[in-house]
Amino acid sequence: MYDFIIVGSGLFGSVFAHEAHKKGKLVKVIEKRSHLGGNVFCENIDGINVHKYGAHIFHTNDKMIWDYVNRFVEFNRYTNCPIAISKGKLYNLPFNMNTFYQLWGVKTPEQAREIIKSQSSEFVGGEPSNLEEQAISLVGRDIYETLIKEYTEKQWGRECKKLPAFIIKRLPVRFTFDNNYFNDKYQGIPIGGYNKLIEGLLEGIEVETNIDYFLNKKRWDSQAKKIIYTGPIDRYFSYSLGRLDYRSLNFVTESLETANFQGNAVVNYVDSNVDYTRIIEHKHFEFGEQNSTVITREYPKEFEEGDEYYYPVNDSKNNRLYSKYKAKAELEENVVFGGRLAEYKYFDMHQVIASALKTSEMELSK
Ligand code: FAD
Ligand code: UDP
Repeated sequence: MYDFIIVGSGLFGSVFAHEAHKKGKLVKVIEKRSHLGGNVFCENIDGINVHKYGAHIFHTNDKMIWDYVNRFVEFNRYTNCPIAISKGKLYNLPFNMNTFYQLWGVKTPEQAREIIKSQSSEFVGGEPSNLEEQAISLVGRDIYETLIKEYTEKQWGRECKKLPAFIIKRLPVRFTFDNNYFNDKYQGIPIGGYNKLIEGLLEGIEVETNIDYFLNKKRWDSQAKKIIYTGPIDRYFSYSLGRLDYRSLNFVTESLETANFQGNAVVNYVDSNVDYTRIIEHKHFEFGEQNSTVITREYPKEFEEGDEYYYPVNDSKNNRLYSKYKAKAELEENVVFGGRLAEYKYFDMHQVIASALKTSEMELSK
């Protein structure tokens, strides 16, 4: 009899497993995919760590979380500075003095503020009720139309007016010449890839891959005092209240016989007539000097049966449905729901780790 069977070996499952194992609990992790790590998994192709499920840049403001991950793997000094291509022109992201100069030729913060103010006056005072209003009130109409609208509608498959405002608040707006995509104090990529982090977390713990919990749910339930479930919450309840929306992605990866394809790890393609949203050139995450390179194009798509679940769509309709599933989950004895899919939240890695640490502390003090 295990104390915990953990369904899913992503960061939530791996952190929980680590903490429980450390406290002497008998733990087993089962994973549907053929590898461990969930969406942070990297595949080594020609000596390059390829982020199989999209670019993953670790960032946090929380020293405790930073120290925690650094116990398992050293991080490099990578700072994410994506470039966006719109109508054939290159712009720096996030929205900062470089972007304002590229767009309007302005050279001082005051000039930039003046333009943004004149373009966002229509929304002054009120609380933005959707992504379009939020974006225009933050950066004005030019930036919204040049760098946000088409990218966002392609990424989410929905009009900006129908998307929640918080999505665009992820991106900093700065009146300095600073292209760092994040404001957090700590940032980097694990040297040698994310698998090292997961291997460190799961050291000494029993794991089994290619196991779908639902194909043998009764058996797993009978073998554990508690199940830690990190898959989609609506799937757990057989979609009994209806399906939550998820956004999925297709990743198309290519090896190229060139040392440097785009000169940056992340290049965003804003225009709606380009089907993909970004090209990732993986070697640049680790300052790779190989003679060849590996790139991945990221094509957003609506989730269909058989796809991977990537982004919860946290609009009000889906949040309402999630609340109903959450109420059901709270009645489920001996099952704990955690992580991006089971909590249905647009969590970054550091937030998932924080959530797993909090949950494990609660569970292990019982
Ligand atoms: P997951 O990693 O999804 O793990 C869940 C695991 O459960 C999966 O391995 C799945 O196969 C398994 N599972 C599901 N159902 C079953 C079942 N029935 N039986 C067995 N196993 C099951 N965060 C950042 O901080 N920085 C970034 O730059 C960043 N970029 C991202 C880019 C993309 C494209 C995406 C999609 C996410 C990104 N994130 C980023 C977010 C990050 O991936 C997540 O916060 C984190 O990996 C979520 O961990 P998790 O354990 O909750 O879920
Ligand atoms: N976004 C945009 N233009 C860009 C990059 C991002 O409009 O060039 C918007 C888009 O709505 C996206 C959100 O900002 O969903 C958050 O972007 P981020 O890069 O954080 O998304 P993720 O890496 O999670 O896909």
